[in-house]
Amino acid sequence: MSIASNINEIKKKLPDCLLIAVSKTKPKEDLMEAYQAGQRAFGENKVQEMTEKAEVLPNDIEWHMIGHLQRNKVKYIAPYVHLIHSVDSFKLLKEINKQANKVERTIPVLLQIHIAEEESKFGLDENELKELLASGEFKEMKHIEVRGLMGMATFTEDKDKIRREFKSLRNIFDNTRKQFNDEKLNLKELSMGMSSDYEIAIEEGSTMVRVGSAIFGERNYQK
Ligand SMILES: *Cc1c(COP(=O)(O)O)cnc(C)c1O
Repeated sequence: MSIASNINEIKKKLPDCLLIAVSKTKPKEDLMEAYQAGQRAFGENKVQEMTEKAEVLPNDIEWHMIGHLQRNKVKYIAPYVHLIHSVDSFKLLKEINKQANKVERTIPVLLQIHIAEEESKFGLDENELKELLASGEFKEMKHIEVRGLMGMATFTEDKDKIRREFKSLRNIFDNTRKQFNDEKLNLKELSMGMSSDYEIAIEEGSTMVRVGSAIFGERNYQK
């Protein structure tokens, strides 16, 4: 299967949901093949790799940062990043606000919520999320727009477990919208689902799926 046909097959299964092509570790030629097939949203998890690709690939690509982001690297992506999915601390949010101010823009972000059982995964819990959104300091941040939430399920074959975790994220999303959405805060995006579980994620209300290997093939980290 070619990259183009993979994209088309996946898109057929997506109702009203954005497909983000996760191109980490993949060469620019692969991204261009996806681009020629009409793909514009790409996801990367490393600042340097994303920036190098953004410099040479077409300008109308929307770059999504989906990986754990170190504060000292925010400045490199602030001028061009389309959406940061992986905001997992208040400190990081403050740094994004500061760097966005410097480049005179508002950066859209999602807050990453910890739903998996693995401790290694990043993210806020529900209480931390509510504390953040309720804080005066957050309300003062003029250069970020929180668009919604992101989460990753446990890496497991157990589909019921994955579904339960996506359901719990959807619940947090619904509760938070009820409590906090007003004219200033409009949470509407729910980024969940990857190659192995995006069909479950869609059934549980995902609005953005981040799909890598099902489009580009397995990644080779050794190279
Ligand atoms: C790599 C990655 C993906 C895509 O993973 P696949 O299993 O290849 O689809 C999605 N989300 C995040 C946060 C990732 O790091």
